[in-house]
Amino acid sequence: MPNNEENKRISRPPVVVIMGHIDHGKSTLLDFIRKSNIVAKEAGGITQHLGAYEIEHKAESGVKKITFLDTPGHEAFQGVRSRGANVADIGILIISAEDGVKPQTKEALRMLLEAKIPFIVAINKIDSPKANVDSAKTSLIENEIYIEGYGGTIPCVEISAKTGQNINELLDTILLVAEMENFEAAPNELASGFVVESRKDKTRGIQATLVIKGGEMTTGQFVASQNAFAPIRLIEDCNKKAMKNATFSAPVSISGWDEMPQAGSDFKVFKTKKEAEFYISNWQEIYNSEKKEETEHDRTLFVIPVLIKADTQGSLEAIEHEMKKIELENARIKIIDKSTGNIGETEIKLASGNENTIVVGFGVNVDSAAVTLGERLNINIKTFKIIYELTDWLKVQVEERRPRIEEEEIKGEAKILKTFSRVKNIQVCGAKVKQGVLKLGNKVKILRRDEEIGIGTIKELQSQKMKASEVTGDIEFGMSLECKLELAPGDHIQAVELIKR
Ligand code: GDP
Repeated sequence: MPNNEENKRISRPPVVVIMGHIDHGKSTLLDFIRKSNIVAKEAGGITQHLGAYEIEHKAESGVKKITFLDTPGHEAFQGVRSRGANVADIGILIISAEDGVKPQTKEALRMLLEAKIPFIVAINKIDSPKANVDSAKTSLIENEIYIEGYGGTIPCVEISAKTGQNINELLDTILLVAEMENFEAAPNELASGFVVESRKDKTRGIQATLVIKGGEMTTGQFVASQNAFAPIRLIEDCNKKAMKNATFSAPVSISGWDEMPQAGSDFKVFKTKKEAEFYISNWQEIYNSEKKEETEHDRTLFVIPVLIKADTQGSLEAIEHEMKKIELENARIKIIDKSTGNIGETEIKLASGNENTIVVGFGVNVDSAAVTLGERLNINIKTFKIIYELTDWLKVQVEERRPRIEEEEIKGEAKILKTFSRVKNIQVCGAKVKQGVLKLGNKVKILRRDEEIGIGTIKELQSQKMKASEVTGDIEFGMSLECKLELAPGDHIQAVELIKR
């Protein structure tokens, strides 16, 4: 049993993600904060982006740390979200004072609300002559983003990522939110957290940036993430400075992985190699069983192949995550290929194997040769810059492609009151409409005491002694019904139509 000392939880620095519409200043803000913080200056202002960095900010209560996810865009954030956990604790929703709320602002807002993390609105570019802070604020209200002073409680800071105006206030606000939220972690456990980026280095092999959300790691230990493994020989901070150990919420770089760990997946540190290997084999088992279940169920369904190309690995993950939400009753989407880069001829050739294949791109271009080939082979290609627009379009495309389901719809019902002559298969009878409409030519189901006993076709209808093409309302009518069995008073008939949906 761990004693109280081991169980102790202490406050931890927040992990912050910056989200917003393209060109509203995410990268400029991330760069400004990075360049003007103490830690980076000490290391001589290293500018290599590793997916996350840590700064120290002098607040009223002393010097405090903040970790920023340095992957502008929603992708890394969404990748982690897809596994139901948050790498980020606080969001900054950046909005240009020149433009106000734009489509990707709304997308970012939706993600922040889904993630249920607190966020701060930063109205950027206030230095610009074209800035209109009031109109930006109005656009926030119009989109139900209720900021402080405008009927809401969401903190709002007016900044310039270019000149640095009010950036200190923004950092103060982050620390204030963190204080209110009281983020805590246990220092005496083995480290765990998330992979925010992985890359291949020519000389050092596979490297990954990890954000520690709890515990501590020391050189000599071992780290595992899904099926990827690395011995912790060297821990580097975001300025490439080697450390013996690291704790939350620091971003660290670890080299020497045997496989590429996936951005967004969680990691765990172990004391021995054996424990790490045991963790990986467990993960593998769960992963394999999940995969098997899926394929057994899916085998019976109609397949709509989709080929995705995106600008980054993170975008691919985010798109896949959103695509999982598309529900189809009698078909399934199968991603036949996904990779980063433009859509080229290779993709079109791959897609041409099945006439239903959809080729979709995110933040990429379509090579002109691919356009020509696509047109010739009649393959649908489309590219997007906004994830939800991509998934909305995809929804329509797969809906069009899935097989139609035929269903019987009851259009009307009548009760047989009297039966008259019966010649061959034609039964003449009197009936009363119970509901809906019965039409000439309708197929009917015949029910006796609520049980279907046969079927028939309406050959003639008479209402008030006149031939009719349909009967409806609370009326009695005459009818010739083609059917194999003899009707009796009290039977019901239901007019059914086959509906394709
Ligand atoms: P991102 O797409 O959200 O990462 O946006 P960027 O950071 O790349 O910024 C887009 C453009 O806006 C660039 O030309 C920046 O120089 C400019 N920009 C960003 N922040 C400011 C600001 O505070 N003031 C002004 N005037 N321009 C800015």
